[in-house]
This record gives sequence, C-alpha cells and structure tokens, in this order.
Amino acid sequence: MTASRANPVFSQLPTTIFTVMSALATEHGALNLGQGFPDADGPLAIREAAAKALLEGPNQYPPSRGLLPLRKAIAAHAKRFYALDFDPEHEVLITSGATEALTSCIMGLVGKGGEIILIEPAYDSYRPIAEAVGAVVKTVVLSPPHWRLTEDALRAAVSGQTSAILINTPLNPIGRVFDRGELEAVAKVAKECGAVVICDEVYEHLVFDGKPFEPLMTFPGMRERCVRVGSAGKMFSLTGWKIGWVSGPAALVDVVSKAHQFLTFTTSPALQLGIAHALDKEMDFTLNLTKELQANRDLLAEGIAKLGFKPLTCEGSYFLTADITGVTNESDIDFCKRLVREAGVALIPLSVFFEGGKPDHLVRFAFCKSRTVLEDALARLQKYFHAETRRHGG
Ligand code: PMP
Ligand code: GLN
Repeated sequence: MTASRANPVFSQLPTTIFTVMSALATEHGALNLGQGFPDADGPLAIREAAAKALLEGPNQYPPSRGLLPLRKAIAAHAKRFYALDFDPEHEVLITSGATEALTSCIMGLVGKGGEIILIEPAYDSYRPIAEAVGAVVKTVVLSPPHWRLTEDALRAAVSGQTSAILINTPLNPIGRVFDRGELEAVAKVAKECGAVVICDEVYEHLVFDGKPFEPLMTFPGMRERCVRVGSAGKMFSLTGWKIGWVSGPAALVDVVSKAHQFLTFTTSPALQLGIAHALDKEMDFTLNLTKELQANRDLLAEGIAKLGFKPLTCEGSYFLTADITGVTNESDIDFCKRLVREAGVALIPLSVFFEGGKPDHLVRFAFCKSRTVLEDALARLQKYFHAETRRHGG
C-alpha cells in the first residue's frame, strides 16, 4: 500500500528537526542542546498534586473546554501579571499542549482560502497545519542579526483576505522579544486589514535582563482581536505533560473550541489539576527559572564566543542562536550533523525555520539545561575544535 493518495502536506513533509536531532543525539551519545526541553523536572508539589488527582480521580472525560479550577487559575494568572480579565467559563480553553492550541486556533480562525501571516523564522508546526486546512500562507521574513519586524513588511504581506497574523514572542528559535514599537505595528496593521492575531506566548515568563513582557492583547483595541496561547510545559519545566491553553474573547474562543472538540476533545484531568495547583501556588518556580536561564544564556554565549561562534542577542525563550561562519564554511545542517557525530553535541540548524531554507549560517543552542550539561557541552566543543585546528595545521 502506498501513500500516493495521502495528504501531500504531510506525505511530503520531513520528520520534524527536533525528532531528527534528538534521535541523532541518542545514537551518538551526544549532549542534547537541540530539542528545547529542560533536563530537570518542575516542582515535586505539582507532580504530587497530579499524582493525587490520578489516584483519587476524576479519571473520566473532563469537560471539553477543560476543568474549571484550571480555567480559573489561568484567568487569575492573566489578571495578576497583565491586568487582563478573562471569564473562565467562556474565555479560556484548555488544550493538549500549545501545539494543539495553535492547531485549534488555525483550524478555527483561518478557513480554506483564508490568509495567515507567519513571521519567519517560524516555529515548525504552524505552516503545515495552515496548509492542511487549505489556508494561504504568506510570510514576513526577518533578517539577522537584529531580526526587526517593521510595519512596512507587515503591510506588504497582508490583504483584505487576511484572517490571522501569527506572532510568537519571545520567538523560538531566535529569542527575540518584540518591543512596543513592533507590537504597535502589528496592532495597527491587524486593525486596518481586519485580521485577528494568534499570539504564541508560550515563553511569556522567560524574558531576560529585567525587561517587561507585554502581551499584544493588552494594547489598545487588541483585547477583542487576539487569542493568547500558553503552555504549562514551559512555565513549569514539565514539557511532557502537554497542557496548553487559549484565552481570548468568547466569540473567538468559541470557534477555537469547536476545532478542539474534534481534535482531542479534552486532555488529562490529573495533569490539568496539577497545573491548576502550579499556577495558584508555584509561580515562584517560574520566576526563579528565568534567572537561572539568564545565567545559562550568559555562560553559553561567553563559552561559544571563545570558540569562534558569533552569538546573536537573546532576549528571552530557551534559545541562543549563533553565526557559524567563524568556525565552518558548511551549511548549518551539515555542520549540525557533523557536530552531533564527531563532537557529541546536538544543536538545531536555523534554516529549517525558513520556507526558503536561508539563512543557513546560524544554529540554535538550547540552554534550558543544567549548568553541568552546559559546561560539559562547552568542554566537548572546545576539545573538538582544538583537535580540528591541529588536524588542519592551525
Ligand atoms: N510554540 C512554540 C514557539 C514552542 O517553542 C513550542 C514548544 N517548544 C510550542 C509552541 C508547543 O508547546 P507545547 O509543548 O505546549 O505543545
Ligand atoms: N518546541 C521545542 C523546541 O523548539 C520542541 C518541541 C517538539 O519537539 N515538538 O525545541
């Protein structure tokens, strides 16, 4: 049986780079600075709350939109950090991770033939899902090293048919946090063309150097035009739990919920209750994680700069990007494949986040790892590049 009549969006899609690099890391015994997951689990108290719920129940289908204690906790979190008011009954939806939240948003808010604007580099799940629903994908491509988003570039991409603009800030893979001016431009253009904005804000708390994080939804006129996507995995270092959410005006959340009801319908009740506990009681963990990650970023940036990489600015997220032209003239993909095999360190090539496959001279390091792992990775890279210099008679 062949898959010749299967959906070409998926039959012709390669396996995601995160799976590819993690498999290579395992095969070669490499340290995994590729796929973005922390190597220490989040607080025990959260896991205990979920374990208790698993033993005591409920263990049958929760309501499709999620258990009310978690929806209330998400509303309270938005009030506490951003002074945003959500009605937990009608304006919050729980999903199986932010991946499902984004898929439900795209399925619900962008129809066949409708346009969606993606900002590249773009997280790799957005485009295939948009294409699978028959949407027309238009891109705004940012340029290194500053990756600035301009009103002109946005305006050139949108039209009267634009259903949604998808904004990810802090941005995976480049660690940019869009500033007020850039977000104002998004707000202005979205209002002018009548689009909604899907705000992928999964790294909302992982913003460094004391910078504030301002959801686009808090900007004038944007409360009714945005849906915000969050992920407990990133907030509480529990990426395997896949608890995500969508919050926004009832009219938009209603439609997104209808897509969600046939994608997954609902998600594990025990894990939902664990995260309700986490949002109510364990935010200190998240605020402290930000400080640890900032120190990790600095350690890594300094270490790789000494080896000849040129680190780019990282304002938030789990990720630091670096220019590799000082250490190789290979493409990012070839370089990452060699490095995982020969140096025992897995990274992610940046070109996979661009439809056009360029730029291909940048790589992404995940620094959501323990200091020991980062130090070991730097030591491995140092040893490898020194040996390489000797091999080439340097
Ligand atoms: N959006 C971005 C920008 C991400 O980096 C990720 C995961 N790393 C997701 C969405 C998906 O999050 P989740 O694991 O909660 O599905
Ligand atoms: N978002 C994670 C990353 O960027 C990976 C998540 C996944 O593998 N689906 O590394």
